Amino acid sequence: MLHNGNGQEEKPEPETKPEDETEKDPTRSSASSPDGGGQTELSSLVPVYPKLEIKRNSMTDDFKISSQVLGLGINGRVLECRNKKTGEKCALKVLYDTPKSRREVELHWRASWGPHVVRILTLYENVYRGKKCLLIIMECMEGGELFSQIQARGDQAFTEREASNIMRDIGTAIEYLHRMNVAHRDVKPENLLYTTKETNRVLKLTDFGFAKETTLQNSLLTPCYTPYYCFWLYYILHCFVQKVTLCLYPFPPRLCGFPPFYSNTGQAISPGMKRRIRMGQYEFPNPEWDDVSEEAKQLIRQLLKTDPSERMTISQFMNHPWINQSMAVPPTPLHTTRVLMEDREMWDDVKDEMTSALATMRVDYDQVKIKDLDTSSNPLLNKRRKRAGTSKGGGGGG
Ligand code: ADP
Repeated sequence: MLHNGNGQEEKPEPETKPEDETEKDPTRSSASSPDGGGQTELSSLVPVYPKLEIKRNSMTDDFKISSQVLGLGINGRVLECRNKKTGEKCALKVLYDTPKSRREVELHWRASWGPHVVRILTLYENVYRGKKCLLIIMECMEGGELFSQIQARGDQAFTEREASNIMRDIGTAIEYLHRMNVAHRDVKPENLLYTTKETNRVLKLTDFGFAKETTLQNSLLTPCYTPYYCFWLYYILHCFVQKVTLCLYPFPPRLCGFPPFYSNTGQAISPGMKRRIRMGQYEFPNPEWDDVSEEAKQLIRQLLKTDPSERMTISQFMNHPWINQSMAVPPTPLHTTRVLMEDREMWDDVKDEMTSALATMRVDYDQVKIKDLDTSSNPLLNKRRKRAGTSKGGGGGG
């Protein structure tokens, strides 16, 4: 266990948590706690997690930084480092100390105790090159990014059952975040990392740079946060089967920043596209989709619903047979590895395109949220307003 500069006792750290993901769900301890409530649904419990402690001693007292770059992000390099006491390999991400970074760290920490989320092990506030920085020490995800792993498989076919397992793991993380009132808003392939390259590897979600706390206020405006994960679940699932360039097909380049099912009005954008959707032409082109099960296609159709009220909630996603009975999903070989290899050069462009689509979506939804809060006559909101004795949603919010 690490100690801070004052020799004070530390809270238990996530690094001591068991490897088994199922044992790691903190709701388990809540369920057995005195007020866990025998009849309470596990999924409705708010997990308990320790308060985030920020250490102020130099990070290099406890860790040796290596020159090994694990990855590059918008905030710069993520570096490998080692715990001087235990020798454990870890990852270091450095952020300038701003309110936005503090929010990222706080929300990531909160999520860090759940299944399929990269763990924060410890956090430092140090001055680096004259600037106050936050140094996040995370578990080292040695397996790398999701698609790189699939790409690296060579001849070994990637199957529909594996795709289902991956989607279930991502859904499990998202469902947990929802329970913790966290909307990740950036669930994209680059933020899905494997613990190791071994067969028992675990896929985990990281990068909470765009995460937002969902308060009672914005959760009233559901499905405000569903588009983000619906979009990416759809996209990732699509990438498993067909050429990544074709994933963009439902979003022609110019409109890519504004996917049809996420427009402000909930309207599909072009009549031509509407026609193609109706005729089922654009969703599942052959031959890639020929052998894919009807359940998988049905799930995708659900994720693509244009009407927000029909859009899938995360629990509906988790209860879909293609997700919750993944052992029954046929092990049909998919074209994923070949497709990812063939499209290797396009991949960076596609990632950029999708990243900007997501950014547009975030801005758009934040605006919708603000507008709706002021003008909505939602009965629950009205009740809250009355209770607060004000005609506007005064404090809080975003
Ligand atoms: P940013 O917020 O600056 O975009 P990310 O958190 O997305 O940074 O990290 C950038 C990249 O660094 C990731 O895409 C991944 O390749 C690598 N990376 C991030 N966290 C880890 C980790 N815990 N272990 C190994 N590699 C990581």
